[in-house]
Parts: sequence; C-alpha cells; structure tokens
Amino acid sequence: MTDAAERLAATLTDINKAESEFGRASGSVTLIAVSKTFDSASIRPVLEAGQRVFGENRVQEAMQKWPGLRDDFDEIELHLIGPLQSNKAKEAVATFDVIHTVDRLKIAKALKSEMDRQGRQLPCFIQVNTGEEPQKAGIAPQDVDAFISACRDDVGLDIVGLMCIPPVDEAPGEHFALLEKIAARNAIKGLSMGMSSDYKTAVGFGATHVRVGSAIFGARDYR
Ligand SMILES: *Cc1c(COP(=O)(O)O)cnc(C)c1O
Repeated sequence: MTDAAERLAATLTDINKAESEFGRASGSVTLIAVSKTFDSASIRPVLEAGQRVFGENRVQEAMQKWPGLRDDFDEIELHLIGPLQSNKAKEAVATFDVIHTVDRLKIAKALKSEMDRQGRQLPCFIQVNTGEEPQKAGIAPQDVDAFISACRDDVGLDIVGLMCIPPVDEAPGEHFALLEKIAARNAIKGLSMGMSSDYKTAVGFGATHVRVGSAIFGARDYR
C-alpha cells in the first residue's frame, strides 16, 4: 500500500527523469497536484510532504477547502483548472492564484474587472480546444491568435500560458505539439498540459505545468 505522500514523491521523480530524458532543464516543469473531490484531510499529508502547488476545478469546492489549509501552510499556490462562469469571477479571483481556463471574452473581462477591484493581477492561461470537440471548453485553434491578442491588448490580462485537455481517444502528442506551436508563435512561455496518464509525454513536448490528480491522490469518487 502506498499513500499519497509516497505517490507524490514517485511522481516528482518521474517528472525529473522525463526532464533529463527529453533534454529539459531540471526543475523546468511544475507539478500541479490536482486535489478535486478530495477533502482537506486527504490533502494535508501532501502539503506536509512539501507540495505547494495545487489544482481545483470548482470554485465553490475550493472556497470550502483552501482557506483553512492556507491558515496552516504558507506559500500555497492554487490553480483553477476547471470551467469558470463569469458570475463566479469574484470568488475565483479571491480564492485562486492562477487561472488556466480563460476561453471567452466575457470571462476575460469579468476576471480583469475583479482583479482590478481586488488589486490582485493573476497570471492566466488560455484553454485551447485542440481536438475541436464540441462538448469541450476552450478556444478553437483557428481562433486562438486573435483571442490571445484581445485578452492581452484589449482586456489587459497577464497571459502566461496555454492549456489543453486532449481527446480521451487520441494520442496526446499531436495535441501537445499543436499547443506548443500556438504558444511559440504568440511568444507565450507557459504550457499547461499532461495529466496522470500522459504527463511524461507532455514533458517531452515542452510542458511547463503538468496537472496530476489520480496518480497522487488515488481514484476519485464522484458520488
Ligand atoms: C481532473 C483534472 C486533471 C487531473 O486528472 P488525472 O487524470 O486525475 O491526473 C487535470 N486537468 C484537469 C483540467 C482536470 O479536470
């Protein structure tokens, strides 16, 4: 039986191995431990093991869990990796440190006005629907360049990266490569890509942030 702290250590070792295997600088990939659906008691051992960067996909759930954890642990960095409604922008800006899922102008504007109001300019990633799946959030690849300019130049968001979730039934590599290409031509450095099943591949394609949940916390129970 392994526990979450051991699986965290194994994941960090794997990331480090992948960095050297693919000629990436050591420490160039940030692990986001995705703690969605897990309660504070399950998250604490991972914090105690030293992990500080976490991802949650629901604003409401994060608001319930993280203020208490922030009281007990310094320097937590919380990333919003799930879809955002503009009526939750206020809570999102107050709760999170980085947003990965900017994918509509309405959201971009709502976030910016809340950031101004709260005096917190959060780094943002734009979510790209690399597989052009109708059910999936994200900007279509052909619309991304214009959307990036609008977010940067018109809205004034600090766009630090792009994020994608490849289709489940396709090899992820081509999606990671596409995201990297879009980022490069827009002079964007951050690439949020790779989950439990494919984070090592993502490191090979230039990921700067991998979002790993079940490989650390175990299988999720959505009941
Ligand atoms: C849940 C989730 C993850 C983590 O998924 P695992 O397969 O458990 O590693 C990563 N990214 C997003 C956007 C998620 O919603």
